[in-house]
Amino acid sequence: MEWNKAVQQMELLQKKKYALTCASSSLYLDAVTVAPKNTSEGRGVALSILAGEEQKLMTSPETRALLDELAEHLDELDLVHRREVEELRRDQEQLARIPAEEYMAYSELTNRASDVWHKAKENNDFASFCPVLQELVDYNRKFAGYYDASKKPYDALLNQYERGVDMEMLDKFFAQLRQTIVPLLKKIAEKPQIDDSFLHNYYPVEKQKAFADYIMEVMGLDRGHCGLGETEHPFTLEFNNKDVRITTNYDVHNVASSMFSVLHEGGHALYELGIRDDLQYTRLAGGVSMGVHESQSRFYENIIGRSREFIGAIYPKVQEFFPEQLGGISAEQFYRAVNKAQPSLVRTESDELTYCLHIMVRYEIEKQLIGGTLEAKDVPAEWARLYREYLGIEVPNDREGCLQDSHWSGGSFGYFPSYALGNAYGAQMLHNMEQTVDVAGDAAKGDLTAITGWLREKVHQYGGLMTPADVVKNACGEFDPSYYTAYLTRKYTELYGL
Ligand code: ZN
Repeated sequence: MEWNKAVQQMELLQKKKYALTCASSSLYLDAVTVAPKNTSEGRGVALSILAGEEQKLMTSPETRALLDELAEHLDELDLVHRREVEELRRDQEQLARIPAEEYMAYSELTNRASDVWHKAKENNDFASFCPVLQELVDYNRKFAGYYDASKKPYDALLNQYERGVDMEMLDKFFAQLRQTIVPLLKKIAEKPQIDDSFLHNYYPVEKQKAFADYIMEVMGLDRGHCGLGETEHPFTLEFNNKDVRITTNYDVHNVASSMFSVLHEGGHALYELGIRDDLQYTRLAGGVSMGVHESQSRFYENIIGRSREFIGAIYPKVQEFFPEQLGGISAEQFYRAVNKAQPSLVRTESDELTYCLHIMVRYEIEKQLIGGTLEAKDVPAEWARLYREYLGIEVPNDREGCLQDSHWSGGSFGYFPSYALGNAYGAQMLHNMEQTVDVAGDAAKGDLTAITGWLREKVHQYGGLMTPADVVKNACGEFDPSYYTAYLTRKYTELYGL
């Protein structure tokens, strides 16, 4: 086969794959936004067919022959096409090992599980979710073997979200974080606590929506290419680098909730919008890994969004949106309130300091579930035990306990550590960025242009062109969690006068 013809065929293959992903994503977006609540069954049928078609497309003898041929001539391809071949072959080999019936049955299961989980959470009824959770765990243990039989099952799953990361690395990483965070929390407990009561006044949804629009404007998000919707759990969904959707949730008694979720999802969106045009509709479009994605979202949410400089810059405008609620509150009071550190039950509402402890609880549980030493029925008790041990608090019910997150119901085991890794990558990126960008000075002016420009240059543009480890190296140098622990120590020592 001629070269350019084989390359063209590979491009068409990737566009077909893109189209199937768009169809599944649209169904998902519909399900969580406007679809009436008892309509999931039909979508489940469609989703399982789409998943089956994708698997067929990727594992057909024609596709295999095409990729095999291209792989024999990797040296003659340019970098982009070479990387496409490498990644597509990796996907193909993995998919080919999963029996088609299992793949479709699993897609149907995750669709059903999300429904069961929603109702279970609403009714605080773990018993109804428990058998589905066990099924999901069993599937994931089996799939782990298909992904990479040479690895321990949980390592194989971790590798799906952050290639190169395993339990050995994470055990050390989390131990280092705990050694920093737990003593800081103990010292904070001895100090007078920050007053954040004014964040919980009544903040009308309409005003919060206008405020969210303003935050997107400050972030430089082009509304012609990035939509903002409303869902129970905020998320980012990308179709391509010209069409990204983010969502938020408005709580009338918590102005910080939507504010920081828009900063967070906006960070994900900037990443997707910043990926190069020539990678679109290929396997290399989209953020490279969950960990790198979270480094971007949490960079805007915490490192910038919760900095004294940025709060100072936007605060006059914040007061204009909420004159009655915040008229008598200073920027410094607001800054302190949104950084209040305190052990709590719910991960998504937790502060920057305790956040990683919530992740560690989930990591320990996943490790045992996938390792086969814990059954689904024992998750609530283990959850309570770990919250007591890591955060020193009692879990009053499963709704605010092991039913709070959607990840497991979606079949994601091994995702959670990405959040903690993202935090640590971000802190190291900050250190490197400060060598050439006046980060604090720019944040104090509310001008994020140079900051986003740096991230675009070092991270965003590449999409999947580099591996996650290479992207991290490019932006951070050799990964070292000490930058993150130093950042937390500096910030909270100053904030609480420790
Ligand atoms: Zn995120």
